[in-house]
Amino acid sequence: MLRTSILLVTLLCNAFAAQAESNPDSLLLRSIYDEALTNGESYENLRTLTKDIGHRLSGSQSAADAMQWGSAVMRGYGADSVWIMPVMVPSWTRGSIARSTAYIGQKQVPLRVTALGGSVGTPNDQSIRGKVIMVKDVNALDTLRASAIAGRIVLFNRAMDPVLINTGAAYGGAVDQRGNGASAAAKAGAIGALVRSMTHALDTLPHTGALRYKDEINRIPAAAISTVDATTLSHALENHPDLEVSLQMNCAAFDDVLQGNVIGQWTGTEKPNEIITIGGHLDSWDIGEGAHDDGAGVVHTLEALRILKAIGYQPKRTLRFVLFINEENGNRGGKEYARKAAIENEESDLVHVGAMESDAGGFVPRGFRIDATDSATAIVRSWEGLFDPYNIHLFRRGGAGVDISPLKTLNPRPTMLGLSPDGQRYFDFHHSSQDVFENVHKRELELGAATFAAALVMLDQHLPSPQP
Ligand SMILES: [Zn+2]
Repeated sequence: MLRTSILLVTLLCNAFAAQAESNPDSLLLRSIYDEALTNGESYENLRTLTKDIGHRLSGSQSAADAMQWGSAVMRGYGADSVWIMPVMVPSWTRGSIARSTAYIGQKQVPLRVTALGGSVGTPNDQSIRGKVIMVKDVNALDTLRASAIAGRIVLFNRAMDPVLINTGAAYGGAVDQRGNGASAAAKAGAIGALVRSMTHALDTLPHTGALRYKDEINRIPAAAISTVDATTLSHALENHPDLEVSLQMNCAAFDDVLQGNVIGQWTGTEKPNEIITIGGHLDSWDIGEGAHDDGAGVVHTLEALRILKAIGYQPKRTLRFVLFINEENGNRGGKEYARKAAIENEESDLVHVGAMESDAGGFVPRGFRIDATDSATAIVRSWEGLFDPYNIHLFRRGGAGVDISPLKTLNPRPTMLGLSPDGQRYFDFHHSSQDVFENVHKRELELGAATFAAALVMLDQHLPSPQP
């Protein structure tokens, strides 16, 4: 009896395996992963982007160089047409000086800081110095007396929530301090702001990122401070509430510069008027090499094109491979792309049916964040079994990516997927000097590219066409 059962189970398993092997989607996914893992070029492309071109701050020469490089790679990989969509981007330079010292009793303790992106320099590039007030919440400033803040430097010191398994959510829960802290502090009369770096790691690296000044409020200098130094300061304040901190920075903003999104198009055979966009962002912060953020997304995008050409895939819909500009400090590339897409939807028969983004690092892929209607979400979730052999298990609703997020407002709404790599180490590197090529793992990067390309063909094959 037992033997019969085992035999039956074995036969059934074999039947399922045979069915999976002959399923055209399974075969397609297998060929995509095989191509990425045997002939992959994403890692060498990332080396060129990060080592030969370097970091790519919006408005910089290296960002312009990266646009040329991205265009050339897309042409080389066989895109039907490649063009630059012009975008005016902000221009800001970090400068050569970012110094801060804590004066604690008789001791002088140097603090590791770097300017937040977009910060003004200190007046005349000279040092400012003041007592420190620490808060954990931007709104806490409202409850303090003006005399407690006036003339001081505000330390925003709320750590990313360690209990959230989704590190992106922990980041999202803390980043308001970086975005809004400087203007909130200035409104209350402060002369400067220090913001605890956005990372779970207790390290000595300042992690930069954009701030947003409010128009009607005077602009004060703001810097990211390493988590180790933020912790040191907060402890020192317990015994020395009158300790002082100095800050000196010579960062500066300039006139906007004309750059653009790099777009490579591959026209579909069956439904050429239906567009699926896939991309990452070309710009990066300037204190590392923008390897995970978002060099990985750039080379994932290029590799998706290369893989699909290499395996002889013929897309039904028109695929657009997009390297967005200016995600980090304005998202002007993403906004302009969506503005043009809305015009295409209205004034021609082109319709944007899908969009995908990779902007969460080059780590081992876990799955996708789905931003779509209920029915489209159900279609994407029906692919779980197909992706199971590749350890892709996460099919969760969530934001798909900053660059493609403005496409949400289109009517009909495109189905949007964000590639979700494992996020536990992402913020160790994010926006820091350690976001370099050496910290990206070749095989993990290739698995991400394959997963990205696989989802693209699934969207191309199985998205329903919008009803007229
Ligand atoms: Zn990014």
